[in-house]
Amino acid sequence: MLRFDHVTKQFGGFKAVDDVSFTVRPGIITAVIGPNGAGKSTLVNMAAGSYRVSTGRILIDDVELQALPKHKIAHAGLSRTYQNIRLFDGMSVMKNLEVALVPPSIGSLVSDTFGFGGRREAEERRERCFEVLKTLGLAPFAERQAGSLAYGQQKLVELARAIVPKPRVLLLDEPAAGLNHGETEQLKQHILALRQPDLAMVLIEHDMKLIMSISDTIIVMNRGQLLAEGSPADIRANIEVQEAYLGQ
Ligand code: ADP
Ligand code: MG
Repeated sequence: MLRFDHVTKQFGGFKAVDDVSFTVRPGIITAVIGPNGAGKSTLVNMAAGSYRVSTGRILIDDVELQALPKHKIAHAGLSRTYQNIRLFDGMSVMKNLEVALVPPSIGSLVSDTFGFGGRREAEERRERCFEVLKTLGLAPFAERQAGSLAYGQQKLVELARAIVPKPRVLLLDEPAAGLNHGETEQLKQHILALRQPDLAMVLIEHDMKLIMSISDTIIVMNRGQLLAEGSPADIRANIEVQEAYLGQ
């Protein structure tokens, strides 16, 4: 499981995340909601090692992540998607996924992944990537340039890339943002299929209908602080939460 333990992130004198503690358990979907600027992406960025925490600890089981470099955090089993798509546009969809399986020690991200670890390993990596692409309905696009895909498909490739290393902790930062109704419904089914006993999943979302229909537990952030935590029914009933939304 993933644990935030009194985590604070300051940018200058401003606390983007202010003494936040919560636990993300495997086998369920934990949603993190809250108005723009509440600190949701900052939580993900700290967990994944993109931002350093100012104070506090972030742990997977007993392993402290906050001092580790990004690749070691990934090695500890944490995977994330970005709120804004970050694919290698000029590379094929397949290559974008393969990159997620090549350790950074190998060198340049664009190095020929086929040359790493021998033909057999390369073949296994490609099989794993293709398996994930099939699961997400992306197999027909495997050899297309990522940048040539429609926006909704690119969002799914982001998800695919995060899943490929078989993470134990998966952080999804607004995966449904910008998707139409049909695409959102599809994404929902994919996320539900990921709800497995050995995966701790965090879903950051604005789409309340999606949140309420698939989350097992919800954390509400507001102005860097944890405002409420509970079941979808609890949160729906929480007036304070409603006020934070209405007042934004
Ligand atoms: P959310 O994802 O909930 O919309 P963010 O975590 O992106 O919010 O941002 C929380 C606050 O921290 C915002 O006020 C944002 O402007 C600020 N912030 C985020 N990243 C940085 C940064 N790198 N430098 C300065 N301020 C930042
Ligand atoms: Mg955000």
